Amino acid sequence: PARTRFAPSPTGFLHMGSLRTALYNYLLAKNTGGQFLLRLEDTDQNRLVKGAEQNIYDSLRWCNLEYDEGPEKNNNTEMGPYRQSDRSKIYQEHAQKLLDTGHAYRCFCSKERLDGLRESAQRLKPPTTVSYDRKCAHLHEKDIQNLLKEGKEFTIRLRSPAKYPPFEDLLHGKLDMQPQVNPSEIRYDDPILLKSDGLPTYHLANVVDDHMMKITHVIRGEEWLPSTPKHMALYEAFGWNAPKFIHIPLLTTIAEKKLSKRKGDASVMALQKKGILPEALINFSALFGWSPPRKLSIEKHDCFSLEELVKLFNLNHLTKGNAKVDEKKLFFFNKHYLGLRLDDPIKFQEIVEDISNLMNNKYPKEKIGGVLNVVGKSLTTINEFPVNFYYFFEKPDFDSEQVLHFKKNHDLEKVKLILAEFKQLDLENVERIVDHLVNTLNVPKKLVFESLRFALAGSMPGTKLPILIQLLGKQEVMFRTQEALD
Ligand code: GLU
Repeated sequence: PARTRFAPSPTGFLHMGSLRTALYNYLLAKNTGGQFLLRLEDTDQNRLVKGAEQNIYDSLRWCNLEYDEGPEKNNNTEMGPYRQSDRSKIYQEHAQKLLDTGHAYRCFCSKERLDGLRESAQRLKPPTTVSYDRKCAHLHEKDIQNLLKEGKEFTIRLRSPAKYPPFEDLLHGKLDMQPQVNPSEIRYDDPILLKSDGLPTYHLANVVDDHMMKITHVIRGEEWLPSTPKHMALYEAFGWNAPKFIHIPLLTTIAEKKLSKRKGDASVMALQKKGILPEALINFSALFGWSPPRKLSIEKHDCFSLEELVKLFNLNHLTKGNAKVDEKKLFFFNKHYLGLRLDDPIKFQEIVEDISNLMNNKYPKEKIGGVLNVVGKSLTTINEFPVNFYYFFEKPDFDSEQVLHFKKNHDLEKVKLILAEFKQLDLENVERIVDHLVNTLNVPKKLVFESLRFALAGSMPGTKLPILIQLLGKQEVMFRTQEALD
């Protein structure tokens, strides 16, 4: 069984990209009968965003990605706490261990000195981010003690090995990544593990926690690949076995851009506001870098519930390249899952409630239910309902684009003729009425339909004429026809 974790930093609202990372970790754990953990990586206090932590909980819960261990949950197991800011002592003890074994050293260099080193490294050809000259690695114990006594601030750095250990990524294969150092320069990576405020950096906290929480597989975004050699060096320094790594491609930025023109709009909760259902979002995210068996995928039009995904998920079917992102697919899924919900009487009623809220509770719920019953399956999201079917609740907007377009493109004299004649008729059989209008006025059938649609629905598409007449009721139909004539 795999023990996996989702380790977000609460530096922003949960986006589709992170959701996919969470999902894959969840699926692998559940597929193998293991556990899925949530760990908050909140040690970079400057980057914390208010509300982000709560947003992570809410988004995961909304998507049904329940974690077995994590903050707000079994927080007192031997593995917890699960919020890194509550674990400072653990990291300090581990940094001390590395000091004791000589794998780490205290660095007392001033910010100015380090800035200078960084700038000169940037001027090298080619420039490098590997900039430290390892001055403090050579301090004598006596000097160190004196500096400590003076109360001088320090960080703790890893003494990076001459060569970083190669590692196996289950998606990318064997990787041997070394920092780019100009051989004529004596510069070292020596990443900082513990900052001068006593808080760990990502590298130390991440490795210590993955080890202590007995994580077996780390699925994370490709942007963390450059960190992995440092993590491997840390595992070696501690004498621990590293978990298995799977770095998944970053396709999501493309999707996020497409899904929302404005930045910051593709958070899970923003998609919820747009009427996206969690089932659809999960289905969509799952296929972003993973593919189900081909035959099944064709058979089921790619529609897979979370339970089905759990059964099917398999690391062998992760995709390495940039999969084509088709946001249309998200809406296709949404329509599918909305349809399933509409078929369930309890969920149907919940949708009525949601739509009622969207319409500021201005209309009777029975009426919403009645219309929804008829038009529901044509909806892609429930947010379309108030826009596309407002004319069931209010008289049509004769200043709308559709109406203006209709007026521009039709012979209004003929339209009036049709409506005036229509008004005289008895409404029992719509088909017969249409035929009658066609024959007596000698006008095309299409024009009859369009004229009535113009009068009754302000030319909005979406509902068949007999249904429109039936749902509006005789009185309203006559009233609207008169309005259109006036
Ligand atoms: N805290 C990192 C993030 O925000 C975690 C990366 C990892 O999974 O190791 O994505």
